[in-house]
Amino acid sequence: KKITIAIDGFSSTGKSTIAKLLAKKYNYIYVDTGAMYRAVSLFAKNNNFVGVDFLDSEKLVSNLDKISLSFIFNEALGFAEMFLNNINVESEIRTLEVSQLVSKVATISEVRKKLVAEQQLMGKEGGIVMDGRDIGTVVFPDAELKLFMTASADKRATRRYKELLEKGDDVSFEEILFNVQERDRIDSTREDSPLVQAEDAIGFDNSDMGIDEQFERICTLVDR
Ligand code: C5P
Repeated sequence: KKITIAIDGFSSTGKSTIAKLLAKKYNYIYVDTGAMYRAVSLFAKNNNFVGVDFLDSEKLVSNLDKISLSFIFNEALGFAEMFLNNINVESEIRTLEVSQLVSKVATISEVRKKLVAEQQLMGKEGGIVMDGRDIGTVVFPDAELKLFMTASADKRATRRYKELLEKGDDVSFEEILFNVQERDRIDSTREDSPLVQAEDAIGFDNSDMGIDEQFERICTLVDR
């Protein structure tokens, strides 16, 4: 039977790596919900609803119906890329600039409402692995398997830093560390759907655990 797998947790805890591996092994659909919040943030940025120190949430909310999000599977990459109004934004949504904006955008209830509805629609048939911050608590409270990932802030920032360096982004480790911690803080303290571990979620601290070992343990949970 194809189940629903919800993966939540803090930023850069390896959620998407695990999710992609699971989707591949079980032939499930993988949905990266963070990419959706990032794409909405990019839309806000491109339309100048954002300045150095402000975000015009009202303008963004009144333009939400102009945002069309879709995932298109890329055979070569082995996962679906994010498209914003039919343009591939997979690379643009991963910049530090978008990362610095996204948690603020994710506090807006109307934004969450729109994205949660789209996510529920994508998962209504099961056979899906979805990662984010509110999947086990809000999007799929009845998911058969819920995982909650944590790792030390330092480990997480190191991972993110390496990824961005490989892409050629000009960033400092301190900036990344600050961003990771700041997003965790905003995500955990927002009023609408704060990041919390669902009561029935299984926690994974992968500060010192390799991906292979972790993946093996999670597969046992899926198979049981
Ligand atoms: O997963 P990722 O780090 O790309 O997510 C970016 C941001 O989007 C998070 O820091 C959080 O603010 C927001 N988010 C959310 N709910 C989700 C997924 C992401 O609020 N389900």
